[in-house]
Amino acid sequence: MNKRSIRNVDFAGKTVLVRVDFNVPTRDGVISDDTRIRAAIPTLNLLSNGGAKVVICSHFGRPDGQIVEEMRLQPIRKRLSEILKTTVHYAGGPTGTQPAKIISQLGTGDFALLENLRFEPGEEQNDDVFSQYLASLADCFVNDAFGAAHRAHASTTGVAKHVPAYAGLLMEREITMLSRSLEGSTKATVAIIGGAKVADKIQVLHHLSKKVDTILIGGGMVAAFYVAQNNPGGATVITEADRLAAVDVLNAGGAKVVLPSDVITATKFSKGSTPSLRESKNVADDEIILDIGPGSCKKYAQVISRAKRIIWNGPMGVFEWPAFANGSIAVANAVAANSKSTSVVGGGSTAEVIGSLNLENQITHVSTGGGASLEFLEGKTLPGVAALDDAID
Ligand code: AMP
Repeated sequence: MNKRSIRNVDFAGKTVLVRVDFNVPTRDGVISDDTRIRAAIPTLNLLSNGGAKVVICSHFGRPDGQIVEEMRLQPIRKRLSEILKTTVHYAGGPTGTQPAKIISQLGTGDFALLENLRFEPGEEQNDDVFSQYLASLADCFVNDAFGAAHRAHASTTGVAKHVPAYAGLLMEREITMLSRSLEGSTKATVAIIGGAKVADKIQVLHHLSKKVDTILIGGGMVAAFYVAQNNPGGATVITEADRLAAVDVLNAGGAKVVLPSDVITATKFSKGSTPSLRESKNVADDEIILDIGPGSCKKYAQVISRAKRIIWNGPMGVFEWPAFANGSIAVANAVAANSKSTSVVGGGSTAEVIGSLNLENQITHVSTGGGASLEFLEGKTLPGVAALDDAID
């Protein structure tokens, strides 16, 4: 990584502002998955153990620049205190005079959490006054919010102009692992790309077609690829733009693009629909493609078993519904079973598939960033990474 890491920096006596991504999923106000909180713990502990006063900040939800009571960070602060086994003080804010007062009372190694950054309109506007305010709270800045690195906001880019800015351990690992998945020879690198729409994945398909050996296609975009090959795509509406996008990928040269030879369809887009197995050329006009079929699962598993590097973004079908989850489960098991490969999984729902099968430990890296990991794989520069200080040597 060519950015300055927090490793080997002396933080003793320093006040450090740490941007994390605590935008955790909740149900009825209760945190349903605290993976993102746990992912930031190594950085928070390194800073605290190194003698810093640690001021943590994050966004949560979309309050759109106003105070929204249900989007306060109180439940997150409570969970973070439990995980860290110490009190995380409430710092107030995210603007005004209260944060500086509370921070001045922190002892060495103490933690405080600012209120939801997106209560302040300047955050998403990347307003320089708010950036300077955030910088005024600390001696230096650490960004560990990989999941927000594709956004140019005050707390991800603006603040880095005003104080020394380092990459946290999670940020460092994300960048290192994602970069490694794309570096060097394309040989024996397999990308598996699924998800809802071809429009969402077209850029990543283009970029990866120059970087990998084989691309296995799944998800809602299968219909667009079938139409691009003059086969029926079923009832899914395929715009001319979608068809052309798929044609472009097929004609791009570079990677071999593999489509499913069979699919699971249904006549209604609903959980209880009766699934039907169809060969690729036999999808009826009133059927929607909702998963890849068993023949494709077998073929994809074979390709995956021979890969040295694997990149996976996007489920193979509507995995949230058991009748259409088999393709994603088969691919997840195949990726996990190839223990000799370096496997990198990105995207929120793909990580969910891995998590639901408890396969995290058999994957080299499961990214915590959905949009950010996708933009990285599209070959884009992430503003939150670009804003950090360059590595010294
Ligand atoms: P993405 O965030 O682009 O990776 O898309 C994830 C979503 O794609 C999941 O919620 C899946 O249910 C959905 N998805 C996967 N396959 C299909 C399909 N064949 N038709 C519609 N949605 C799908």
